[in-house]
Amino acid sequence: CGIVGYVGEKSALDVVIEGLRRLEYRGYDSAGVAVLADGALVSDKKAGKLANLEKSLNENPLTVGTTGIGHTRWATHGAPTDANAHPHLDNAAKVAVVHNGIIENFAALRAELTERGHTLLSETDTEVVGHLLAEHYEPAGGDLAEAMRRVCRLLEGAFTLVAVHADAPDVVVAARRNSPLVVGRGEGENFLASDVAAFIAHTREAIELGQDQVVELRRDGVTITDFLGNPGTFREYHVDWDA
Ligand code: GLU
Repeated sequence: CGIVGYVGEKSALDVVIEGLRRLEYRGYDSAGVAVLADGALVSDKKAGKLANLEKSLNENPLTVGTTGIGHTRWATHGAPTDANAHPHLDNAAKVAVVHNGIIENFAALRAELTERGHTLLSETDTEVVGHLLAEHYEPAGGDLAEAMRRVCRLLEGAFTLVAVHADAPDVVVAARRNSPLVVGRGEGENFLASDVAAFIAHTREAIELGQDQVVELRRDGVTITDFLGNPGTFREYHVDWDA
């Protein structure tokens, strides 16, 4: 439902939670975050309101990091439980992914992953993507954007996906097909969201991705391609309405 990604110099958790709060008006049933900190992935997720997640984060604080992603879920596959909330991780807890939309061919992908030895821990259509990104990361030369492009070519349905990998510090990667995704461009920091409302407190310079595109977000820049790796065409604009 609501998606936020951040890479920069601030606490990613603070930026992501604030962004999710600005998207709360859309409605949701669960919330979660993942942060890259000291070469590891830390995450937390809870069914219910953002306040439940914040309570959990206060009781068990995450290591502070400057790269992170967050999600508010509107369940389509699997009940609104902690386990089904996003982010979804692979079995080695290297990759975290959040997703809006529906992966139509998830059942077939899930069966293949199980056959290859993966243990799926949720009932969602989303979880397959975390496991697939983990499988494709090394063959893609440790390039998370390339892994995302390869995985997107396997997916059917509508999706906004945002992912981080523990071995790719200061990188957030996202993909879009028939589901909204905007980039917010800052100074030494960049943002991703399902809606500009999530980041206009920080920047009003936005990029709307085209269909079937992947974006790699770093502190100092943004690279946009199609699912085959060709440069993408996108729309840059200034957000001039008030928050
Ligand atoms: N289909 C996914 C799920 O049920 C994503 C739902 C959403 O867009 O929030 O977990």
